Amino acid sequence: MYRIWVEISLDQLAANYHAVRLVVGEGVVVAPVLKADAYRHGSVEVAHRLQQEGAQWVAVSNAEEGVVLRESGIRLRILVMGDFLPHERDALVEYSLTPVIHSLERLKEYDRMAEALDRILPCHLKLDTGMGRLGVRATPQQTAESVAAARHLYVEGLMTHFASASDFSTSQTAEQIARYEDVLQTMGQMGIQPPLQHLGSSATIAYGIRQAFGTMVRPGLAIYGYITPSKGAAPQPELNVLPALTWKSRLVEIKEIPEGAQVGYGATWRTQRTTRLGIVAAGYADGIPHALSNRGQVIVDGYLAPIVGAVSMDLITVDLNGVPPARVGDTVTLLGRENGVRWDAEDIAAAAGTISYSVLCGIGNRVKRVYV
Ligand SMILES: *Cc1c(COP(=O)(O)O)cnc(C)c1O
Repeated sequence: MYRIWVEISLDQLAANYHAVRLVVGEGVVVAPVLKADAYRHGSVEVAHRLQQEGAQWVAVSNAEEGVVLRESGIRLRILVMGDFLPHERDALVEYSLTPVIHSLERLKEYDRMAEALDRILPCHLKLDTGMGRLGVRATPQQTAESVAAARHLYVEGLMTHFASASDFSTSQTAEQIARYEDVLQTMGQMGIQPPLQHLGSSATIAYGIRQAFGTMVRPGLAIYGYITPSKGAAPQPELNVLPALTWKSRLVEIKEIPEGAQVGYGATWRTQRTTRLGIVAAGYADGIPHALSNRGQVIVDGYLAPIVGAVSMDLITVDLNGVPPARVGDTVTLLGRENGVRWDAEDIAAAAGTISYSVLCGIGNRVKRVYV
């Protein structure tokens, strides 16, 4: 019996992985993204299940995340997508992690390190095709020449990342694809063809943007069961996934307060009538966005109950007037579905003015994890 916990369905995660594979087809490698502790689903458990399901690659953000997976017995190829600092280089080699290189200077440095070790080290090269964050921004010619000169590296992957993958009202994605193709073609003319060509993540797969599938895709959010809503004239989503995580807590107290009573820090809510107030063991320390104050909901006994007053560190208060059966100790669904009523990460994000990624990654350490 916990006060606050998440229930994660590894079967649903596996089903989502296979749904992604179905959309991209046999010839495309699927590298699920397990950064940020698998969007708080637990990277070790998720990686082991994906390994069982036949995955060949997973991707993480930094070397430490990769080391955790290796030490837990994961034998898959592990792509480290974020940039690495000099002190993280040794771990890459020691734990057989495959880094993404983000500049031609770093490519040269990593090549020198491989030479000093007298080894050929695998890596992927990332292009900044318009995201304006990590990645090589040199000309196609300079890029291809640097790859050719790195004789102790096996550049087995060429990647880029889209800034507006679910926004179909802009030409940014098409422009990014064109810049990527340009570099790939220039490299090809010099006889270099990285076998793993990857551009797309969840939205690219979900909306079936086939010209960006390349030979590898990097889905994160879709593996966890979400598709970011599109903007503009989007194609019909092709991907069938469902959320794998449900977030639960309990009613620690119920009390009746009179009309006109104030509730919570700053007295931001005042009852309009006699109110059955539920106090739930979940607060912003657990990851409930503070922005849900007077805006969010929870599900109690199959009914939506509004969050009233400010979200505090350890507690939220909810209006139970519409939930006749509620009793102290009852389970409260903070995120998920119950009896056909839905309040998921996308709904929370919309209410809190944030994105579903941030809601999932915000689930705190105090929240226990149960695999079902
Ligand atoms: C996080 C990340 C992904 C996964 O993105 P989703 O939208 O969650 O599928 C893919 N590639 C890179 C470089 C990332 O940082």
